[in-house]
Amino acid sequence: MLRFYYRSRIWQARRSFFMRILVTGGAGFLGSHICEKLLARSDEVICVDNFFTGSRRNVHHLLSNPNFELIRHDVTFPLFLEADRIFNMACPASPIHYQHDPVQTTKTSVLGAINMLGMAKRLKIPILQASTSEIYGDPEVHPQDESYWGKVNPIGPRSCYDEGKRCAETLFFDYHRQHGIAIKVARIFNTYGPRMRPDDGRVVSNFIVQALRNEPITLYGDGSQSRSFCYVDDLVDGLIRLMDSPANVTGPLNLGRDEEFTVGELATIIKDITGSRSDIHLHPLPTDDPRQRRPDISAAKATLGWEPKTPLRLGLERTIAYFEAIMRNEETGNLA
Ligand code: NAD
Ligand code: UDP
Repeated sequence: MLRFYYRSRIWQARRSFFMRILVTGGAGFLGSHICEKLLARSDEVICVDNFFTGSRRNVHHLLSNPNFELIRHDVTFPLFLEADRIFNMACPASPIHYQHDPVQTTKTSVLGAINMLGMAKRLKIPILQASTSEIYGDPEVHPQDESYWGKVNPIGPRSCYDEGKRCAETLFFDYHRQHGIAIKVARIFNTYGPRMRPDDGRVVSNFIVQALRNEPITLYGDGSQSRSFCYVDDLVDGLIRLMDSPANVTGPLNLGRDEEFTVGELATIIKDITGSRSDIHLHPLPTDDPRQRRPDISAAKATLGWEPKTPLRLGLERTIAYFEAIMRNEETGNLA
């Protein structure tokens, strides 16, 4: 009897340390880093992705790990499997990608949330939502803290993403209130690092690729709009801390680096690090492009003991080294 008791306690302890974790969008930029970090601490990972913007190559190095499983699936359709936690990361994040098929973007955020929340409800497990600073739209409050409701155009070209993510937050909080599900909502600010796609279209990858090729740097507007850039390792550390936090921590919590740069300053720093001969070419500012953005991360600091550690220049140096390596490999035809 005593032996059975100890055995079951050991099993429970193992389950509470090593879990089976579902990562939707796990073959994407952020998702692949989450999968890697969870496997490194001996969790089992089920990575679900439809490979719209993610790729097998992002998780290729994980495929031989017996604790890793890769499933091709579109989260707008129901999914039945068993897990202890869900990171709901699936959704294109770059404006060119989420505007490519805006209806599918809204479906991914809304139906994807409903399907994953349904699974969390059936299994009674915690679920984390990758929300975004875009829910603040073009903010009138600066820096943005979590109490700000945002200023979002509901019918513009960015709305499929912004409103889809806002509706997903609504669903998360309604499932929490109505069904008692443990939810964790992270409002992620601009994040960059290795495994962004060279053709991703976001500012950091665009400027780095253009600088490395000595091609014109495409500055939209006059470059005075600002963003706060967080290095991927810091962001993923924040997401995992949030998932591991006590059940009463629901968020929403801003996760990002609270240092602000104009897009023009970013171009200058990247040109400087790469020693590029690129000129800067001005292009029209996209519709509804937010003027400024910086997170107030006091809540994440207080609740999770988290703050980003990587200065922009160091993070950019690492990211540039990554892009240099993949561009070299593409030139030599070595795509591994
Ligand atoms: P990403 O495009 O690299 O990754 C998204 C992943 O989701 C890709 O692998 C893609 O193939 C997959 N996906 C898309 N639609 C899907 C669907 N219907 N079913 C299954 N898989 C699908 O983008 P990312 O930068 O890694 O962003 C990940 C998440 O974090 C997104 O939800 C995004 O909104 C959020 N986020 C990212 C940032 C950032 O700066 N990177 C900022 C705010 C929020
Ligand atoms: N941007 C730019 N040149 C580019 C890509 C983006 O000047 O080649 C600007 C864009 O207009 C925006 C900022 O950089 O003001 C950040 O754009 P990104 O698409 O990376 O993210 P988001 O607008 O979603 O914050």
